[in-house]
Amino acid sequence: MTVPDSPAPAPAAAIDKEALRRKYREERDKRLRADGNDQYLRLEGRLAHYLDDPYTPFVPREPRTDHVGFAFIGGGFAGLVTGARLVEAGIGDVRIVEKGGGLGGTWYWNRYPGAQCDTAAMVYMPLLEETGHRPSEKYTHGPEILAHCERIGRQYGLAGQALFHTEVTGLAWDEARALWRIRTNRGDDFSAQFIGLGTGPLHVPKLPGIPGIATFRGHSFHTSRWDYGYTGGDPLGAPMTKLAGQRVALIGTGATAVQCVPHLARDSGELFVFQRTPSSVDVRDNAPIDPAWFERIATPGWQQRWLENFTDNQAGGSASEDLVQDGWTDLAHRIRAKIRGLPREQMTPQHMMAAFEDADHEKMEQIRARADAIVRDPETARKLKAWYRQLCKRPCFHDEYLQAFNRPNTHLVDTDGKGVERITERGVVVAGIEYPVDCIVYASGFEVGTEYRRRAGFDLVGRGGETLSDHWAQGMRSLHGIHVHGFPNAFFVQPTQGANLISNVPHNLSEAARTIAAIVRHALDVNAREVEATRAAEDAWIALLLSGAGMMIGSPDCTPGYYNNEGQDPGPRAKHNVGYPAGASAYFRYLDDWRRSGRFDGLAFR
Ligand code: NDP
Repeated sequence: MTVPDSPAPAPAAAIDKEALRRKYREERDKRLRADGNDQYLRLEGRLAHYLDDPYTPFVPREPRTDHVGFAFIGGGFAGLVTGARLVEAGIGDVRIVEKGGGLGGTWYWNRYPGAQCDTAAMVYMPLLEETGHRPSEKYTHGPEILAHCERIGRQYGLAGQALFHTEVTGLAWDEARALWRIRTNRGDDFSAQFIGLGTGPLHVPKLPGIPGIATFRGHSFHTSRWDYGYTGGDPLGAPMTKLAGQRVALIGTGATAVQCVPHLARDSGELFVFQRTPSSVDVRDNAPIDPAWFERIATPGWQQRWLENFTDNQAGGSASEDLVQDGWTDLAHRIRAKIRGLPREQMTPQHMMAAFEDADHEKMEQIRARADAIVRDPETARKLKAWYRQLCKRPCFHDEYLQAFNRPNTHLVDTDGKGVERITERGVVVAGIEYPVDCIVYASGFEVGTEYRRRAGFDLVGRGGETLSDHWAQGMRSLHGIHVHGFPNAFFVQPTQGANLISNVPHNLSEAARTIAAIVRHALDVNAREVEATRAAEDAWIALLLSGAGMMIGSPDCTPGYYNNEGQDPGPRAKHNVGYPAGASAYFRYLDDWRRSGRFDGLAFR
C-alpha cells in the first residue's frame, strides 16, 4: 500500500510520555466549559429555517388513517436494511416514515461537497451483493451512496410505500387491539402491528451558541442543508462558481469540515476556517475499485465475509487476513501488536493499557508529523496538530484537507480552544479581530448528548401507559439492543447494547435487520399477535453488559466533544451505553446462533 505524505511512526521509546500527557491535559482544560451540551443552539424559533429541506419540494398529500403490517420510523440505512430483510421474509407491507423528502437518512441530508464514507464502501454500503452494485471507489462519495439507498428502496418496493417529509409526533401501544398507533405532523393517524425505530444518532443539526449569531446579515447555512442555490456547483463536486470572489467562513473542523474544506478552498474567493479543536487527520489513500478485481472476489456470500473480516480485524476477532486494510483496521492492528509484544509476565490489565497508550502516542506523533510534512507555513502546521489520544474524537482520514491550507486564499483562524468569540452583522470575531465575510457555513455537528425524546420528537408509550423515557430513566434497558420489555412488537435498530461497533455502524444495523425479519416471520407463522422481551431476559442482558469493561471511548481525560459528553460527567445512566462485553465479533456470532436456533430465548410470543 502506498502511503502518501506519511512520515514514519515515532518509536515509543523516543516519546516523552509525561510531557505528552501534560500537554493533553492542558489542551483539554482549555476547552472544558461549564455549559457542556447547553453551549449549542437548538434550531427552533428564529433559527428553525436552518432545518428547511433545500433538496426536495414539499408535496401536499391526504393524511393516512389505515393499517400496515410494519411501520418503520426513519428512512436511512436502518429502515432500508430492515425493510429489505422483511420483504425477503415475505412481509411486504412495510411503510417507512421519514422526515426528509426521500430515502437515505444521513446521505439524504449530508450533500456537502466532498461528502464520502469514512469506512470502506465494500463493508459500509449495505446490500451490495443483493443489489449487484459495485462501489466505484474504496471510499465512495455521497451521491453514489444516496443513489444506492434509492436503489434499495426501488428494489424492495420500499420507496413507493414511504411517507416523506413526515415527522412522527406520537407512538402509542393500543393494548386492546394489540397494535401501534402512529400519529404524525401531517395529520396521519394510522396503525401497525409492528414498528421499527431507526432514527440514527446524528440527525438533529445544531449551531454553536455564539453571541450575535442571529444578527449576521450575510448568507449562512448548516453543512447538512447545503445551499447549492447560493454556492453553485453540486454534490458531485462541480465547481461552486458562485463562490468566486466571495469571502466564506467555515465554523468547525470536525469530520464534516475535513471533507468539505478542500472544495471550499478550491472555489471560494477567500476561505476562513475557524477552528476550536483540530481533528486528527491521517492518510486516506482512496482508489477506484477495479471491475475485474471485483468480479473475482464477488463470489456468493462475499459481503458477509468482508463484513465479518472487517469486524474480526478490529473488534475482538482473530482473522488471519485483513481484506479491507484501512485506517480502522490499522488502528486495531497497532494496538494488538503492542499488547502481543508484551512479555508473558506483563500480560496484566495495567501493562496492556500502557501498551495501548504507547501505540496511541506513536500514531498521534506520526499524524502530527504529517501536518509538518504537508503544510508549508510552520505556524499553520503547528495549529493543525491534534493534542489528544486518537479515539478521543472521531479519527479523520483525508489526503487533501491539510494540503488546502497551502492555498494562498485559505486561512486557518485558530481560536486556541476558545471558539468563535462573536458574530456580527458583517462577519466573525476571534480574539477581538473581525473577519468580514459574505457567507458562514456551520460545520458544527449534530445533537448527541441530549434526551432521546428531544432528538426523536416523540416518546413511545408502551404497555400500561409507560413511556420509554420512564423505562430508561435509570439508563437504557433492552434485550440485545433491539427489544424493550413493556414495548411489544417494537424493534430498535441501532448499535448500543448490541455490538456497539462504531467503526462500521451499518454492520450493527444489518444484523439487527436479519434478526427482526426472523422474529416477525416466526410471529406470523405461529399466529402470535404480540412478541415482547421478558423482564427476566432484559434484566439478565443488562447484568451481562454491566459486567464488562465499559467503553473504550468517552474518557473524561479526553478533550471535550460528543464522545465524552463535552467533558461533563454523564451520570450513572451512561454506564448502560455499552456493547457486548466479549466484543463486536462475539456479539454477531451470539446473535446469529440465537436467531438460527429458532427458539428466540427471552422473547414471549402471545
Ligand atoms: P462535530 O460535532 O464532529 O464537529 C463540530 C465542530 O464544530 C467541531 O470542530 C467543534 O469544535 C466546532 N465548534 C463547535 N462550537 C464551536 C465554536 N463556538 N467555535 C468554533 N468551533 C466550534 O460535527 P461533524 O458534522 O463534523 O461530524 C459529526 C459526526 O458525523 C462525526 O463525528 C462522524 O461520526 C459523522 N461524520 C461521518 C462522516 C463519514 O463517515 N464519512 C463524515 C462526516 C461526519 P470542538 O471540537 O472544539 O468541539
